[in-house]
Amino acid sequence: MTTPTPDDGGRAGLESSPFAVRLDRPDSTPEFRFFPTPGDAFRELLRLLHDGPAATRGAWGLRAEYPDAVLVPMRILPGAATERARVAHMLRMQPGEWHGCTLIAPCGTRMDVRTAEFLGAFRGMPCERCFLAQATAQTPQRPGKVHA
Ligand SMILES: [Zn+2]
Repeated sequence: MTTPTPDDGGRAGLESSPFAVRLDRPDSTPEFRFFPTPGDAFRELLRLLHDGPAATRGAWGLRAEYPDAVLVPMRILPGAATERARVAHMLRMQPGEWHGCTLIAPCGTRMDVRTAEFLGAFRGMPCERCFLAQATAQTPQRPGKVHA
């Protein structure tokens, strides 16, 4: 048995639709849908979870063959947390990795997708710990060879 990845299905082109939504219904094979932006995929995931039967489960992700990770800005919806806690986290979406109903930001903050907001661009107060985690991830651990 293989683990499903966001490239299952292959019905839409990678270039035009790199983001995927997987819908799991009881007693049914998973269903995949593909989207051009993370915002489109997130909205579809929320719609499916809202409109589907109570046992419906879903996830979203970046297709496995996509060449690089994508940063997805997310924060908690107004009213679901104090304003101070509504900082913009940077969810790191790796190719082939599914994100279910609980999102875990690099800083460790957990967000339920039903009370989370996709930010089309980084806006609001950024999460310092997510920012530092991203900066650390992009900093080479060893100095590269210097060419004179
Ligand atoms: Zn954070």
